Amino acid sequence: MRPVRITKTVGEYLLAPGALAHLGEVLRGRADGQDDRVLYLIDHYFRGGKLIERLPLKPADAILYVDTADEPTTDGIDALVRRVRQNPMPKAVVGIGGGATLDTAKAVSNLLTNDGAAADYQGWDLVSRPGVFKIGVPTVSGTGAEASRTCVMMNHARNLKLGMNSDHTVFDRLVLDPDLTATVPRDQYFFTGMDTYIHCVESLSGRYRHAFADACSDQALRLCRAVFLCEDMRSAANRERLMVASFLGGSAIGNSYVGLVHPFSAGLSMVLHTHHCVSNCIVMNVMDEFYPSATEEFRRMAAAQGVAVPRGLCRQLSEQQYRALYEATIVHAKPLTNALGDGFRDVLSFDKVREIFRMM
Ligand code: NAD
Ligand code: ZN
Repeated sequence: MRPVRITKTVGEYLLAPGALAHLGEVLRGRADGQDDRVLYLIDHYFRGGKLIERLPLKPADAILYVDTADEPTTDGIDALVRRVRQNPMPKAVVGIGGGATLDTAKAVSNLLTNDGAAADYQGWDLVSRPGVFKIGVPTVSGTGAEASRTCVMMNHARNLKLGMNSDHTVFDRLVLDPDLTATVPRDQYFFTGMDTYIHCVESLSGRYRHAFADACSDQALRLCRAVFLCEDMRSAANRERLMVASFLGGSAIGNSYVGLVHPFSAGLSMVLHTHHCVSNCIVMNVMDEFYPSATEEFRRMAAAQGVAVPRGLCRQLSEQQYRALYEATIVHAKPLTNALGDGFRDVLSFDKVREIFRMM
């Protein structure tokens, strides 16, 4: 099961409170000439706010706001790329936002230098040319999208949620500024932060081992505990800790597999359209049988932060919906094998999967 291949991680990053003020330096040598166009893809939350005034904008640059009410789609990415192509090619793409915006920036950067549509690249190692130089600036911590080699996109035509898994998808540089996460609403902060915690729990409990991924996951878990088991998860020190935990968790993703939570969570997202991070938390809340100590710890963290994880979502669905949830879960063979071995279908019969969903 263990793939042997060269692993790419983000090589250059700037981590400090207030790091955004140094974005000009981070662009240096790449897109700092007066005519070097920089394309900013920014979460719509920041439209009209102070953050925009702090960017080192030149007349040649462009800003496009990314609507993150829904997760990125292949059609949405294609439409963005068509818009960008109406103007001269940017020298750099800067993504500023949470996982949805970072993924959008990665996908757009790749498609500007590779022909075809976003859907053509959903899969593994299909991107042949490096994208436009890309810089990631996370404003919510937890998904690890800033560090990972994928950008997740919904493909509604093919009923598929899959990223462009490629070395070319990795950001070239990162600006990690914990000041930027100060405005994230409590629940969102918790749900997204938990993506790192859950990923690391799944990875460390799996059958597949990789020493680098294990070390990153171990440390990320420690940081998550420090953040979520204390009184104020959003203190300045905790925002910095969580940003590092997310970066480490994302760096582990390339050499680790998730386990049971992510497949069930993907089922929820596909069938009931709940977002990735809240879906993970809904699933984690009922994982007593598979991850007993982590489930108990997860609940303690939610209680410590006064966050209510949604419940009752799947209690009264039609048989057809349970069937769709089962199909959208069981299709994730790699993580399910990592968690339960080759016989995962014997453990996760339709009845068992329905019972688990009903508990949510
Ligand atoms: P998000 O990008 O979906 O944003 C969530 C909400 O927070 C949005 O409403 C946004 O406007 C708001 N927001 C962002 N920054 C803010 C700030 N500083 N202050 C106030 N509000 C702010 O959130 P997310 O949970 O980081 O990302 C989820 C996405 O990440 C999903 O699309 C998922 O598929 C993807 N993902 C990608 C990877 C990867 O490795 N590429 C891994 C996991 C998840
Ligand atoms: Zn995740």
